[in-house]
Amino acid sequence: MQNSRYRIYSQYLKEKYGEKIYKIPINLPVTCPNRDHTVGVGGCIFCGEEGAGFENLENSISVIDQLNKNITYIQKKYKANKFIAYFQNFTNTYLPLEKFKEYINAACRENIVEIAISTRPDCINDSYLSFLKEIEEMKDINISIELGLQSVNYHTLKKINRGHSLAEFIDAVMYIKKYGFEICTHMILNLPWDTLEDIIEGAKILSALKIEQVKLHSLYIVKNTMMGNMYQNKEFEIISMEEYVDHVIAFLEYLNPNMVLQRLIGRAPKENTLFCNWNTSWWKIKDRIDEKMEQLDSYQGKGCSYLNGKALRKFKNL
Ligand code: SF4
Repeated sequence: MQNSRYRIYSQYLKEKYGEKIYKIPINLPVTCPNRDHTVGVGGCIFCGEEGAGFENLENSISVIDQLNKNITYIQKKYKANKFIAYFQNFTNTYLPLEKFKEYINAACRENIVEIAISTRPDCINDSYLSFLKEIEEMKDINISIELGLQSVNYHTLKKINRGHSLAEFIDAVMYIKKYGFEICTHMILNLPWDTLEDIIEGAKILSALKIEQVKLHSLYIVKNTMMGNMYQNKEFEIISMEEYVDHVIAFLEYLNPNMVLQRLIGRAPKENTLFCNWNTSWWKIKDRIDEKMEQLDSYQGKGCSYLNGKALRKFKNL
């Protein structure tokens, strides 16, 4: 039975598209301005060489072939009909505009109902967004943008070497909203420098900005990264699994109830990590979150009373 104490992504997609939808990852030969010296060097301290897409096909394979290969497999296995083309790895708008157009056009094929593009707040620009708007209108394919933020705490963002602050994120959200695309934001709920107050503030800021979707991650420590070295030198500690569960529940309580949760916990390949999900399967942690929410009678939006002039509620008829 699916938990209804928060808004589940798969159910949302089913309501939106009328059937089960599968997300197909596409891996482009692209890097990130936080790795190539444009805004930073070395990238975020937790980011490994593979970026986020450890399950992806090689980026030397064309977009069409990546889609065909994955769609054929999923169609056969799950009898699926509709798909989201998910440009997942690194910073997918960090490409010359003509190259970007070429890749996106290649993904506009039968059975693709949405194109999801993962990027950074400092790689949002009108030229790219207006091209995507044309695609949406001419090809009848929805566009959604995934933005990494990870933390709303300015000091934590510096510490993890994000190369941008909250201001760039807010700017990117406002630009994307002009075009009407849905936004999914990635947040890590157990960065060692964030407190529970930061987690709650994160939920409030995303709600105030009317972000539509969120993807929550637990921090995993990849070998041979800056964070991996810090972890081995015992420069920080990672909170317990039970504290992570509490962070997720607090985040959900302060989140706008309309927001859709793509994920409550990250998944990573164990072999390349120094720390990953407390050596526990992601679904067991998810079960624990569900169980604790039930015990506490907790639900998404329970504490979401801070929007639209909270102090004025004492007056009648408001
Ligand atoms: S923005 Fe993303 S791809 Fe770039 S360094 Fe950070 S985590 Fe890695």
